[in-house]
Amino acid sequence: MPAKKRVLVTGGAGFIGSNLVDRLLEKESEVIVFDNLSSGKMDFIENLLGDLLDPEAIEKACKDTDMVYHVAANPDVKLGASDTKVHLDQNILATYNLLEAMRKGSAKQIAFTSTSTVYGEASIMPTPENYGPLVPISLYGASKLACEALITSYSHTFDMQAWIFRFANIVGPRSTHGITVDFIKKLKENPRKLEILGDGKQEKSYLHVSECVNAILFAIEKNKKEVNIFNIGSEDTISATEIGKIVVEEMGLSDVEFTYTGGSRGWKGDVPRMRLGIEKLKAIGWKPEYTSERSVRETARAVIDKR
Ligand code: NAD
Repeated sequence: MPAKKRVLVTGGAGFIGSNLVDRLLEKESEVIVFDNLSSGKMDFIENLLGDLLDPEAIEKACKDTDMVYHVAANPDVKLGASDTKVHLDQNILATYNLLEAMRKGSAKQIAFTSTSTVYGEASIMPTPENYGPLVPISLYGASKLACEALITSYSHTFDMQAWIFRFANIVGPRSTHGITVDFIKKLKENPRKLEILGDGKQEKSYLHVSECVNAILFAIEKNKKEVNIFNIGSEDTISATEIGKIVVEEMGLSDVEFTYTGGSRGWKGDVPRMRLGIEKLKAIGWKPEYTSERSVRETARAVIDKR
């Protein structure tokens, strides 16, 4: 049995963070949540508040901690096109503040929630971890790639250890954003019509948050290099229109007219196709059980029930 740790989870009040905290509470000696509640919810947690843009607060929280799960970020990919500073602050500067706090404190291990958007419009699909060059097309993707670079260079320079997880679309209970949640909101407002961004043919991989958390914990236990990079996703894709149909079915609606804003992508910075290669995870013994369709369907059910 590995020794129990005192861990800090930034963004622990958010969708993925709070699901991760639930699992960590079962295996670690102490789990501290650090979150500014910008998009997280107090209902999800009972613990500490703090902002990563406050260096003193994060330094204090990192003191006497063994490991940090750095989940906090502004995850809104679309936003970068209208607000060019938000990802610079909330992702890059926030990560820098955390790394500085770790360098000065006791925590020398970091797990980071990165994203498929670091690959940009990849020409190889499924896209493996060693794909390159990495050419993000959204400011969000750029910020996450910058965070990855800061984390790997801090690991090397200051003898830290890092796990970087590049996620596909993660869905599930407590989802507060993303296409499924968006469609549910729109259909609650108008149950006769659903506007889909782009041409609806965008094909992407969706993974249930419970599987995502399993994969994170599994990879950390099995891989102990200085820097460990893993894609986490499902083994198939689903289109935006198919997601629309699932949501309509799960809401018990019929005769819904689908309209499209047109073009192959939902917005500037969106990629029309995304599927990550997960051979690296499979080689160490982890593979997803759910299809994208099942993950989306379960998410729709959970989110509809909550609203
Ligand atoms: P979320 O918005 O639910 O969670 C982010 C959390 O970080 C929130 O609780 C928010 O309050 C907190 N936060 C933001 N800025 C902060 C700051 N300055 N200080 C302290 N706390 C702060 O989003 P999520 O979907 O759970 O995403 C979690 C992580 O996974 C993010 O890093 C995101 O970029 C990454 N990710 C998510 C997906 C996905 O499909 N959901 C895909 C790829 C990567």
